[in-house]
Amino acid sequence: MDLGIRGKRALVCASSKGLGYGCAEALAEAGVDLVINARGSEALEAAAERLRGHGVNVTAIAADVTSEEGRAKVLAEGPFDILVTNAGGPPPGIWSDWTREDFLKALDANMLTPIALMTAIVPGMVDRGWGRVVNITSQSVKAPIAQLGLSNAARTGLTGYVAGTSRQVAAQGVNINNLLPGSHDTDRIAALNKAASEKQGVSLDDARRAHQAGIPAGRYGTAAEFGAMCAFLCSQHAGFIVGQNVLLDGGATVATI
Ligand code: NAP
Repeated sequence: MDLGIRGKRALVCASSKGLGYGCAEALAEAGVDLVINARGSEALEAAAERLRGHGVNVTAIAADVTSEEGRAKVLAEGPFDILVTNAGGPPPGIWSDWTREDFLKALDANMLTPIALMTAIVPGMVDRGWGRVVNITSQSVKAPIAQLGLSNAARTGLTGYVAGTSRQVAAQGVNINNLLPGSHDTDRIAALNKAASEKQGVSLDDARRAHQAGIPAGRYGTAAEFGAMCAFLCSQHAGFIVGQNVLLDGGATVATI
């Protein structure tokens, strides 16, 4: 399927690895020029080189997108037709441990950073009459993950913001949606499995196997599968999809609709 976005320009945040990279690669395959971002420059430059193999222009900006200075660096590369927001997720823990500071950090990274990026980029999309925004959130907005309370809280706040804002810009050709990952095979899941294996006193392999067995699909998702859905939401075909929360979780969230 031709996604109809060849020659568009996208900012894909937090994209040297994992789900962000999956999104960047699927957009590159669709002919989209990219600005990619991560804090560490080594993996970022390597990712940029791989993405250039798809014949698109790629600019790599090493910066912490959750800081104001970092955002200024990526925003200076605009204008953008497509925005994919992403950043690392908050650490796991227990409700009684989390302080106000922990919450502010999580809100900053996983709610206020995507909102700041949309606030900066969406007006240009509205002026040009076309834009696509995909926010990478989490399955935890549909069904909470107890040990990820900081993530549950921050991402649900972003989801509420998108629900209203997406409906205010849809008539101007700007579509904002959220993509909700369940468990995907990335460094993030490896870190969560490590924490689980230590807590439960089991091997890393056993923790991983037990986790995958609990997913109806019987496995983790891949960054490529995730990226393909992201690219579709950024495509010409997605113009009637507004303010939706698309769950990619192998069936893990048990709900009828
Ligand atoms: P990942 O494999 O750990 O990759 C994270 C990427 O983001 C790396 O490129 C990392 O590079 C970059 N990054 C992290 N913090 C950043 C920051 N502050 N500024 C700029 N770049 C940053 O993570 P992932 O699994 O792809 O997860 C992506 C998001 O989806 C996270 O918020 C995660 O919590 C959420 N999620 C993931 C899963 C899953 O199963 N994987 C499930 C639900 C939700 P640097 O470290 O060099 O900055």
